[in-house]
This record gives sequence, structure tokens and C-alpha cells, in this order.
Amino acid sequence: MTWVPGVDAGHPYGLHNLPYGAVSYRDSPRLVVRIGDLGLDLAAACARLAPDLAPLVSGPVLNPLLAAPAATWRRLRAAVTEWLTDESVRPVVEPLLEPIGQTHLPFEVGDYVDFYASEHHASAIGRILRPDSPSLPEAWKHLPIGYHGRSGTVVVSGTPIVRPHGQRRVGGEIEVGPSLRLDIEAEVGFVLGAGTRLGEPVALADAAEHVFGVCLVNDWSARDLQAWEYVPLGPFLGKSFATSVSPWVVPLDAFDSARTAPPPRDVPLVSYLDDAALPPWGLDIALEIELNGAVISRPPFPAMYWTAAQMLAHLTVNGASIRPGDLFASGTVSGPEPDQAGSLMELSQIGRKPLELPGGVTRSFLEDGDEVVIRGRVPATPGRPELALGEVTGVVVASLQ
Ligand code: MN
Repeated sequence: MTWVPGVDAGHPYGLHNLPYGAVSYRDSPRLVVRIGDLGLDLAAACARLAPDLAPLVSGPVLNPLLAAPAATWRRLRAAVTEWLTDESVRPVVEPLLEPIGQTHLPFEVGDYVDFYASEHHASAIGRILRPDSPSLPEAWKHLPIGYHGRSGTVVVSGTPIVRPHGQRRVGGEIEVGPSLRLDIEAEVGFVLGAGTRLGEPVALADAAEHVFGVCLVNDWSARDLQAWEYVPLGPFLGKSFATSVSPWVVPLDAFDSARTAPPPRDVPLVSYLDDAALPPWGLDIALEIELNGAVISRPPFPAMYWTAAQMLAHLTVNGASIRPGDLFASGTVSGPEPDQAGSLMELSQIGRKPLELPGGVTRSFLEDGDEVVIRGRVPATPGRPELALGEVTGVVVASLQ
């Protein structure tokens, strides 16, 4: 139990969580660990209680900490847990707890990769776009398909999303203008640390030494731009204008009791992706998508075919190195049911069945002024308190062009 007032054992931001963030704290962004609704000033706490760790957390971003080995991440987490538990250090630590103000992106994003790891999503998109072909691409069950995205446009939750502008084909005509099919993608993101050398792959069994933590992602997508540009090289301007992430990075270790077995694999896996003999890497995260205050979907992350460990093993199998602050996202999380899809494209059947919202409003894609909130949590079970991942929000604003 923690001595922090108001934080009981069942609090979703209790001692089992302790996510990292960057908040405005005495007028400048500082790294904090969240407990309840308070942030612990990490630089100040380390300066007093763990001076050797202080240089890793004294700046506004997590990257110096991410560059350290996973054993150091675990040492810091254990130290923070002790500080928030031990009454004898309470007089030192309690003055360093403050209400959480404005949040900032807590890490400088290195490379950003987006996967396509939900079989339900990939096959639904295949059925919508290629009704006469097999719904999954040939390689889909042999490797986690992904692409390299644009890290410079990864923004923190709350950042307004300017409607993207570009080229599309309507009938036989080429048009240029603001996207008419702006969509969301509800995803889970993984923040990497403990960089590797060129040529050195990350084995499945070592993934936990490089995955620092987990966040929520809204990978905004302009479907009209995407549909016209994507053959043969894949997503480009339809994706690169903005990707929003939640402000809290939940340490991977906080998910120890939330591991689940991934779905059965019906195609044999090559050795570097074969996880049958390893601890399960599925995560029991429940997502919820809200559009203008109405819940429109509840995507289940345990239904994902590929795990984060497999995504990382695949991302590095060619010898590509990773750097502290790299981010990869799971791809749209969709479940088997119609109300579990992680994109409007699926929920509205690309406009064939517009969503009905309260007040007689309908939506196939996003309008200017629309607000999207994606929340995530590990649900409570007997003996396991709920774990909150926070939320990633964004309001669409009109194109500047
Ligand atoms: Mn995506």
C-alpha cells in the first residue's frame, strides 16, 4: 500500500501502474511518475534519494532513461515503488507530489513504425476494398506487415488535428483539396529503449529488454488520399500528417498480470517468430473509442494475431538497429464483432452504413470540430486491480489550405 492519500489498492493509477509522463511543473516540462492524480517530480526525487539515476531523468524527455539498459528501468521503478510505500521517506517525497497540469510528449520519437497486426482489421479492409480477392495478403500470416511512418508528426494527446490536404481520384477525375474521408485508427504503441547495433536483431526472448513501455495511439488516416497513392509502395501522405499518442507511458512490467495467449496460429511460423515455447505476449487491454461524447466501439487488444515481441523481432530481423525513443504501433485494433472495429472505415462500411450518433447525427468519416477520445485499460479481475492507460484525444480543425 502507498501512503499517498486517496490511492487505495484498487486505484487504476495505483502502485501497480506508475506510468511516466512529462508535465508542466513549476513552469517547465518535467518528467514525472504518476500516482493517483498526482505527479512525482522524478529529477527532484532522484536528486535526493538516488543521485546516480538523476542524470537520466533531469531533462524534459525520457530518452536518456530509455538509452539505459532495462535493468536500470527496473531499478528506478523499484525505487519509486519503495519511496511511495515507505513512511520513513514520506517527508522527503510528499512535497515533490503535485497535481498534474499540461502534459507534453514524454519522449523524443526516433523512428516510427506502424504494423497491421489485427487479422479482423486486415480481413475487414480486404473485404471492403478487394471483394473479389482473398481478404488477407499472401504474406499476412507469415510475418507482421508494417511500414515506416513519420516520427516528426507524432504529437501528444490534445494536439488539434489539422485536416490533411492532397490529391485523390473521384470517378475518373483527379482532385486536390482537403480530405473528405478523414478516419481514425485505434492502436496500441510500444516505446523502445536499450538501442542495438546495426546487424544485431532482437530475438523474441529478448524483447522485454527493449520494450520500455506502452501507450495509446490514434493513427489518423485520410482514406481518399491513401486509396489513390498507396500502390505499390504503401502509405504515404494519407498517414504522415499526424499520429497522436497518449501522454502516459506505462512500463511493460506493469502488464505482468495482463499477459494473454495470442490466438491460435493456423500457419506454421518461421523460427524467429515462433513464440510457442515463450511466455505469452498478448496483452489484456480493452480499448474504447468515443466520438463527440458517444462510445462507438470497444476494440479488444487480446484478439491481435501478432504480438509486440513478434513485431519487434520482425522489425529487426534484417539487421536494422533500434534507437532509444523508437515507437512502433500495432496497427488498427479490431475485434470479430461489428462494434469492435478500430476505424470508421470499418464501422461505417466505408460510408455504406453511416454511424448513428445521439441527436440524429450521422457520421461516415470525421467532420471539422469532431472530437475523438480513445481510452485503454486492463480490466480488473479477482486479485488484479484495473490498470489505466489514460486516453488519447484530438479535435479535427479545418484545413489551412
Ligand atoms: Mn495505423
